[in-house]
Amino acid sequence: PKFEKVNLNDLIKDIVFMFEDFFAQKNIRLKLNYGMDPIEIYADRSRLKQVIINLVKNAIEVVEENGFIGIISGVEDLNAFFEVSNNGEPISHKNQEKLFLPFFTTKTHGTGLGLPICKKIIENEHSGKLFLVKSDEKETIFRVEIPLN
Ligand code: ADP
Ligand code: MG
Repeated sequence: PKFEKVNLNDLIKDIVFMFEDFFAQKNIRLKLNYGMDPIEIYADRSRLKQVIINLVKNAIEVVEENGFIGIISGVEDLNAFFEVSNNGEPISHKNQEKLFLPFFTTKTHGTGLGLPICKKIIENEHSGKLFLVKSDEKETIFRVEIPLN
């Protein structure tokens, strides 16, 4: 990994911009709440970008027309964090236990490698955490925490 100073909020902005047309087409409401202030972390920019894109892609694959996708970020307890949320079909309790197992997928053409790779990037390469906060009828939320130093 190639570590450098990265502004998490800029990275999120870039990715939102990438998916903008898609969100508009499906009439997906974007709930963004990242602060104006930069969140400076020490990270491998392209690997971190890959994680955010993967989480957003997973959200896109379940959200229905007129649904929402949310991204928030911030700083809490010496960690930078961001959360990607969506509504749509929740993850069953049984499946919640398998999310991070390699090759676990519920999709016809899924690889089941997105989440395990994201977890490896965050936890092994950035000493952070990636976990499911909750998944219910209202929303599914994944959260990433990365230590500030
Ligand atoms: P893939 O996307 O190729 O299936 P992932 O590792 O990215 O592999 O995800 C594994 C499984 O976790 C998905 O098949 C899906 O069942 C579930 N999943 C991941 N993200 C979400 C989400 N936001 N909402 C509902 N289910 C999800
Ligand atoms: Mg995936």
